[in-house]
Amino acid sequence: MAMECVASARKAESIGKKFTIKGWVRTRRDSKGGFSFLEINDGSSFGNLQVIANNTLQNYQTDILKIGTGCSVVIEGVIKGSPAKGQETELVADSVQVVGWADPNTYTMQKKGHTFEYLRTQAHLRPRTNTFGAVARVRNQISKSIHDFFQEKGFLYINTPIITPSDCEGAGHMFRVTTLDFLNPKTIAKAEDDFFGKPVFLTVSGQLEGETYACALGKIYTFGPTFRAENSNTSRHLAEFWMVEPEVAFNDLIQNMDLAESFIKRIIRDALNQCGEDMQFFEERIEKGLIQNLELVLNKDFQRISYTEAVEILKNSGQTFEFEVAWGKDLQSEHERYLAEKHFNGPVILYDYPKEIKAFYMRLNDDGKTVRAMDVLVPRIGEIIGGSQREERLEILEARMQGAGLKPEDYWWYLDLRRFGGVPHAGFGLGLERCVQFITGMANIRDVIPYPRTPGSADF
Ligand code: ATP
Ligand code: MN
Repeated sequence: MAMECVASARKAESIGKKFTIKGWVRTRRDSKGGFSFLEINDGSSFGNLQVIANNTLQNYQTDILKIGTGCSVVIEGVIKGSPAKGQETELVADSVQVVGWADPNTYTMQKKGHTFEYLRTQAHLRPRTNTFGAVARVRNQISKSIHDFFQEKGFLYINTPIITPSDCEGAGHMFRVTTLDFLNPKTIAKAEDDFFGKPVFLTVSGQLEGETYACALGKIYTFGPTFRAENSNTSRHLAEFWMVEPEVAFNDLIQNMDLAESFIKRIIRDALNQCGEDMQFFEERIEKGLIQNLELVLNKDFQRISYTEAVEILKNSGQTFEFEVAWGKDLQSEHERYLAEKHFNGPVILYDYPKEIKAFYMRLNDDGKTVRAMDVLVPRIGEIIGGSQREERLEILEARMQGAGLKPEDYWWYLDLRRFGGVPHAGFGLGLERCVQFITGMANIRDVIPYPRTPGSADF
């Protein structure tokens, strides 16, 4: 049986059928002809369902004429073909029941055209706007595509811990998790007295634990919340975000790149096919040219160049950058965007980065200077994926850990993967929110996650 929702009621095949619609009123207009139009949305589609409420309905004067934006309603009626432009159907109401009123004097979502900055202060009500409804649906579709893509390829979905004693990225941007009362000066805070008897943190990546499962079961992916206490107040960084991390045993860096490229293309294709109305809205109201650019990405092979080649391109670009470009320095987002937007006009995969600027677990190249890292850069966003082939050689990995200031003893279990049945393996991390930004054209990462956490801000 088809679901009785606005999405299905708007389809021509529903004409003649009885429907019960439960949702929220977007607008009410009264016609001189003795009836009112109600625009109803229930989240199932971008477009609203137009409802015709005749003045013969018993609560027309008492209720219907008082309905305003934000009221919740249950409406029963029959779907008819609509004479109006831009919609195939409408619902002629047999009954309209108001479930919850919304006072027009105090309801903040009444007015159209609020700025995104203002809507962040109303994060509990912003999903009732066109934009945030569309973002939620596209985000949902992306999550579904992520699972579909990996499940269809036989990857196992693995849940890695959120509380962890290890610093995977070695960058030290971690949130400490503690039950010690550090506000009470009388307590001497000793790590041994803490809940786990040692310092623990919120995870910055599930990769290390993910590797243990890949090195037993072949192909796995994790998909969960990730936390970084980096004080970067940018439009592309959150303190809490969602990351997808596939890891594949026996894969090398090239296979890793192939996986990343087909993964991104699958997400784009699904969003364009499954979220047509929402994507059309983003195209018209958020980012002109969005759909064409996404189609371009779909139909193009991603460029692949080494970090060293990228540095040469940037140095010879004739551009003035805020941050200097020099071999050995990390690329800034302005550099990444120049490569993807101006130079290649499309996604580009950079590989073989200097070992100093990448994590300890990435495989050292024979030059002794670079590691088998790869970043996927896309227009408007810069880095969307970071990955690598992992170091599978025990001695080299131990030396790299020491170089990064980590104690190999602490990672004995991780090193065991190299001692027993070790294999080459590779994987990457995709930030879900950056992906949602890329697909929707939304400029600020705070607007593609329901409740953003950023430095100095954890409201709701
Ligand atoms: P950046 O240089 O942009 O800070 P990173 O090199 O720290 O990124 P990785 O450690 O490679 O990123 O993480 C993998 C992916 O996770 C990134 O490609 C990005 O999509 C996402 N990501 C990383 N940090 C954040 C963050 N603070 N907020 C949102 N997404 C993030
Ligand atoms: Mn970072």
